[in-house]
Amino acid sequence: MQPNYLPLLQHLKAHYQTGITKDYVFRKNQLELLKAAILANEQELYAALQADLKKSKEEAWVTEMGMLIAEINHALRHLKQWMKPKKAGTNLANLPSVSKVYAEPWGVVLIISPWNYPVQLLLSPLVGAIAAGNVAVVKPSEFAAATANVLQKIIDATFPQNYICCVQGDGAQVVPALLQAFTFDYIFYTGSTAVGKIIYKMAAENLVPVTLELGGKSPCVVDKDASIAVAAKRIAVTKFSNCGQMCVAPDYILVHASIYDAFVQEMKKVILQFFGDDAANNADYGKMMNEKQWNRVVGYLQQGTVLAGGAFQKENLFIAPTLLAVSDLNAAVMKEEIFGPVLPILSFSSPAEVESIVSANPNPLAFYIFTQSQKNGEYWIQKIPSGGACINNASWHLTNPDLPFGGRGNSGLGAYHGQYSFDTFSHQKAVMQTPVWFDPAIKYPPFKGKLKLFKWLIR
Ligand code: NAD
Repeated sequence: MQPNYLPLLQHLKAHYQTGITKDYVFRKNQLELLKAAILANEQELYAALQADLKKSKEEAWVTEMGMLIAEINHALRHLKQWMKPKKAGTNLANLPSVSKVYAEPWGVVLIISPWNYPVQLLLSPLVGAIAAGNVAVVKPSEFAAATANVLQKIIDATFPQNYICCVQGDGAQVVPALLQAFTFDYIFYTGSTAVGKIIYKMAAENLVPVTLELGGKSPCVVDKDASIAVAAKRIAVTKFSNCGQMCVAPDYILVHASIYDAFVQEMKKVILQFFGDDAANNADYGKMMNEKQWNRVVGYLQQGTVLAGGAFQKENLFIAPTLLAVSDLNAAVMKEEIFGPVLPILSFSSPAEVESIVSANPNPLAFYIFTQSQKNGEYWIQKIPSGGACINNASWHLTNPDLPFGGRGNSGLGAYHGQYSFDTFSHQKAVMQTPVWFDPAIKYPPFKGKLKLFKWLIR
């Protein structure tokens, strides 16, 4: 039996309707408050992330709290500018009107987040929601329970419940109950593609606009002209961060046949260098989220030949950073999002082979190409449709607030970060102001005989 969320949601709506959240100084103050609360609870957040995911403090700062603070600072620096109505041109038929685009807050927004980056993926969209002048309900993942409890504490202590409200519980129960009780003005969802489709359907019932930040298989191509040493390091550091549980982790590597052996040797060397020969006891190396995830990913180890790693221990949900030679394109490891520290590697001889493998899982969230040729990099970027991409890098594009972050097709809908977050959480309202001193008769009936003039004006 779900609680009745309606009274709570009506309070949020009533608070939004007072207009207070639209004020620049108010928005700025709330962002400052959020920042201060994160910093004041930094140690508690480290402890919770350690308990939920065995994240080291360093990793937690770079991928969670630090990234979030940077997002807040960026919003604070630019908020005034983002809020200004943007001047637009005016076409001949409408002169001498003046045209502008206003960023209007949606109103009451719902933010739903997954467990893999439980701090950042809940609060980073919230930064956009606050900056854009909304009130919000945030729903953390029930699986990162320790972190969800600290986040609840932070939200409750920092914001009144009728402004920002944290709702916890099983998403399959809580989210439908929220959406049945109330028509939100916007839904921002991060999580699996399967649940994303459920959210999209529920939102469609009331035509609620959505952003869907989903998952998928992000391919990584290492071409014959790549710097092998650099490619191996940059792929490994991203792939094995958070034990591979990253939406933009390189899902599999396609390496040119001419450098395959050399690249495999380099990957083995780098994995050992980064994580040692006892990754299970390496404080910098994470663990799988839960037994369900562990079982799923251990299952992939049978679907190829282990070239590096391959060890696992159920009692501490450990799976070693693993390089897996795969030849069967129909194996589950080549069909499902891996979301764990198993990295299939395959060789290719022609671009057509790469295209054919990638197109089996089209529109990935990210695409990575390693090449030292500018022309070749450009070729691949133009060739493979994806949410985002890097040339000679993996995942770092999402840490630049000046770039939109989001997927396309199966990997999502819409984008955020920096100004893109502000825009996502705002309705772009077209406004035309027309002076009264100029009011030619041509605008009004009768229209007979004016066709020639209309054709000149409107073309
Ligand atoms: P999930 O879809 O299981 O859960 C995400 C959220 O949805 C949780 O808060 C959960 O409570 C809620 N939920 C679960 N079932 C629901 C239902 N039936 N109806 C409504 N809400 C429901 O995802 P997850 O396992 O927590 O996260 C892993 C997935 O998220 C991966 O596919 C990963 O690629 C993706 N992801 C994407 C991004 C991105 O930015 N694109 C970031 C992180 C993770």
